[in-house]
Amino acid sequence: MSEDPHGERHWSKHTEYLKSLITAENSAIISDFDGTLSAFDPRPDGARIHHRSQSALDRLNEAGVRIALISGRAAADLYSRFPRDEIIYYGNHGFERWRGGADGSNPDEDSARAAITTLIDALDFSDLPGVITEPKGLTATIHYRLAPNPAEVGHTIEHRLRPLTDSLGLRISPGQMIWDVKPAEPIDKGTALRSVVNECGLRSVIFLGDDVTDLDAMDVLRDMTVNAADLRGVSIGVVHPDSGPPDLADHCTYFADGIDDVADFLTWLADCVRI
Ligand SMILES: [Mg+2]
Repeated sequence: MSEDPHGERHWSKHTEYLKSLITAENSAIISDFDGTLSAFDPRPDGARIHHRSQSALDRLNEAGVRIALISGRAAADLYSRFPRDEIIYYGNHGFERWRGGADGSNPDEDSARAAITTLIDALDFSDLPGVITEPKGLTATIHYRLAPNPAEVGHTIEHRLRPLTDSLGLRISPGQMIWDVKPAEPIDKGTALRSVVNECGLRSVIFLGDDVTDLDAMDVLRDMTVNAADLRGVSIGVVHPDSGPPDLADHCTYFADGIDDVADFLTWLADCVRI
């Protein structure tokens, strides 16, 4: 197990409560993917699920724990990285939903797809080396991790994006060396988490995430547990040494120290429900 840099809020200090959550009826793991289950990779296509997290999630799934993934990736992309019929996949920050290996997406998606296509056609970052534009159907992500001067390039990208996204009814939000572009209507990882909890009748939820967009899910889970006597849940904030939202501690319940520690945590949870 990793060293504990977060004192009393490291998950390993709360194993009794966490065990009671994972062994409860209708329990679930709801997780982000990049930076939580997979390591960051300079190429958006390079991310792979941590092998120990994968085997732990398979064991939890077999034991009857509901698994849902909520990611900024397109749902089909997310599914391809960890394809399981039993898992619910929310792609594009909640705009797309897959279950049983099939598409079940949001009815508003046509106008969103058209706006993203128009945006991608209008963008030109050819003068900014290392910038990668990733169209994802309903959303898009602009990556600048490979740029020689990322902080400056991040601002330049923002200034070019804003006039276009404002006119197209889109919004932008920052991530780890990325700008995400999404439709302006209020769908986010929080609304995705709420719909999984309600649809599956969950009574006990452990959410894991590391980035700004995950804070919405952490807040929704906290509000739902406060307002519903029959729902318990905690959020695990995954900490990276040089990046991540500075106010993560205000939103999560406990911490994990990077993706290896997430693998330790999921393996420990799987041992709790061993059948
Ligand atoms: Mg992430």
